[in-house]
Amino acid sequence: MTAAANLTFCANHPDRETSLRCNRCGKYICAKCVVRTPTGYRCRECVSQQQQIFETALWHDYVIAAVVSAILSGIAGALVTLLGWFVFFLSPVAGGIIAEVVRFGVRKRRGKWLPWAAVGGAVLGGLPLCALPLIALIFSGLSGSGEGSFGALFGLLWPLVYIVLCASTLYYRLRGIRIQ
Ligand SMILES: [Zn+2]
Ligand SMILES: [Zn+2]
Repeated sequence: MTAAANLTFCANHPDRETSLRCNRCGKYICAKCVVRTPTGYRCRECVSQQQQIFETALWHDYVIAAVVSAILSGIAGALVTLLGWFVFFLSPVAGGIIAEVVRFGVRKRRGKWLPWAAVGGAVLGGLPLCALPLIALIFSGLSGSGEGSFGALFGLLWPLVYIVLCASTLYYRLRGIRIQ
């Protein structure tokens, strides 16, 4: 009898016994309602409230993120892809630098889609680097020069490696500022 009096139930499911509590508002939540966050167990209401606070980006922040990334990515890519194998080390560095500039450009405002706007810009900025090797590849393919195709394929490899490494670093760096 006394044990039953101490039982606590989920705020959303009155028939489910639970001892879990949201560490922000303190209400009881069952295993199904709980959301695991970096700061502990939270209820859905508290999590969605917090996400709204984190959504501070204005419409022009997306434009800034995309344009800044495109320009910097184009410049960095043109330099990095000249250096051959160094592309593996320098592309993530370029992505990290672009992330810092974007973060500064949007005054550290945050948005769910902001990292994607930056990634889109970085990919677009890097694409022109692929254009020349691609044209070379098509031409050497048409002229039937196997050696030329191989060289052109290699020429295409660096820009692609650059785009992938730079864009993924950029994404992870920017995503990190969404939830602190
Ligand atoms: Zn809560
Ligand atoms: Zn529940």
